[in-house]
Amino acid sequence: MRQVPSAAGPVDAGPTVLTMKPVFEKLFADVGLKLEDVVSFHSQPLLARHFWRDGTVLDLMQDANASRKNIHAAFGPKSAAEFAAFHTRAAKLFEAFDGPMMQSAAPSLLNLTRVVAARPRLLRAMDPLRNLEASLNRQFSNPRLAQLFARYATYVGGLPQTSPALLALIWHAENRGVWHVEGGMHALAKCIANTATRFGAEIHYNAHVTRIETQDGKACAVQTDTGRLPVDAVVFNGDPRALETGALGPGCTTAVDPSASTPRSLSAYVMSFAAEPAGVDLAAHNVFFAQDPHGEYAPLGKGDLQPDPTLYVCAQDRFGPAPPTGAERFEIILNSPPLDTAHPQDPDQTEKVKQQCQTLILKQLRAHGLTFSPTPQPEGMAGPQDFHRLFPASTGSLYGRAPQGMMAAFKRPTARAQVPGVYLTGGGAHPGAGVPMAVLSAQHAAATILKDLPLM
Ligand SMILES: Cc1cc2nc3c(=O)[nH]c(=O)nc-3n(C[C@H](O)[C@H](O)[C@H](O)COP(=O)(O)OP(=O)(O)OC[C@H]3O[C@@H](n4cnc5c(N)ncnc54)[C@H](O)[C@@H]3O)c2cc1C
Repeated sequence: MRQVPSAAGPVDAGPTVLTMKPVFEKLFADVGLKLEDVVSFHSQPLLARHFWRDGTVLDLMQDANASRKNIHAAFGPKSAAEFAAFHTRAAKLFEAFDGPMMQSAAPSLLNLTRVVAARPRLLRAMDPLRNLEASLNRQFSNPRLAQLFARYATYVGGLPQTSPALLALIWHAENRGVWHVEGGMHALAKCIANTATRFGAEIHYNAHVTRIETQDGKACAVQTDTGRLPVDAVVFNGDPRALETGALGPGCTTAVDPSASTPRSLSAYVMSFAAEPAGVDLAAHNVFFAQDPHGEYAPLGKGDLQPDPTLYVCAQDRFGPAPPTGAERFEIILNSPPLDTAHPQDPDQTEKVKQQCQTLILKQLRAHGLTFSPTPQPEGMAGPQDFHRLFPASTGSLYGRAPQGMMAAFKRPTARAQVPGVYLTGGGAHPGAGVPMAVLSAQHAAATILKDLPLM
């Protein structure tokens, strides 16, 4: 979560879609606080507005019946019925796997097998032999709806053609509610930091951790570029790949298995800027689809940029009831492959690619009728190289390990690392990427530390 300055004020340049509010309620309830007393969340009945090049517009709503009616109006009765069936299936999957997977500190295949054995129909909903793309192509006769829901794989850095069909449950997580935080997403991070400080935490900002020291194979101190702190335990919130590749010293290279951080998830080119939009009636969350609904993600799978990408546009001043006037704050996300560490790019090339991405983004949006004044410049853009710097050793991947294959959820590292005294949290650890998931991972780490306390 970060903000960058713009002429219209600070722009949220990271996450903007906040889901799973109960996770945050529980976080604050655990310290005796009510979420609404510390930060204001506003429900967003309109989840996202979807645009296709021929002028088709579809609003998906928190009220599934309203979504079904909108789908009926845009694509006809058959698509509406298919959506209703998909919606039920996604809800079933979410409810079945929330407990044994997301809420569990250490999910086990055995537990999962038990859940499925108790409800054999789940297996059909999981569609375990198909990837998300193939599964959606079977469920929707209209390729545009398959395209829409396939995009949910990218929410956790996956490609629809390699992600398990199970990821359909992300739709249900979103359908349970999208929230806007007053003051932007950054206000939530600030509020968590302030609350932690109130309860005795001491936060050292801008202190890069260069090493986790170990003694007798156990974490004993943390070195930062400003000093050394002896520790009983370390909670590492960076990308687990940093540990495994030695970015935090030789004592932690065995903390996670290489298969826990590879293959890498997607990166992105992210534009954050202020401008006046024209030509399209924007909502707060908008998706502008690629022209060709088939195989649009194939180039990303080969490590290339997409010539005809789908784009996400967040109009951050449109969360309220009335559209703003004048310059507004925007974030635009173009998916990209992560860095290829075997073939590093030189800085000139990096700048050139950024310019190409800026041109591509503006061209795609113009094809949908959307323009900005003034034209946003590539200087306000962050790409894989920038994310690699912001999230050390991440290869620019925004979501840790890619959710590739049916067993991906079991491959992510859990809270207790393989070096005693080191604990993992964050988007690269179980249960995975996304702000609520990162919070769940932190709760798992806290619970694990409490369990280990007698051994420390
Ligand atoms: C552009 C973008 C859009 C996204 N959209 C959404 C969305 O809409 N909804 C959603 O739920 N999720 C979204 N995500 C994903 C979500 O932001 C992440 O999954 C989540 O923030 C992960 O939280 P985290 O605490 O693991 O990591 P981060 O928020 O990345 O925090 C880790 C912090 O650790 C610091 N760090 C790492 N290594 C070191 C070190 N050695 N020394 C000191 N500090 C270090 C990093 O600088 C960073 O500040 C998005 C991500 C991005 C980048």
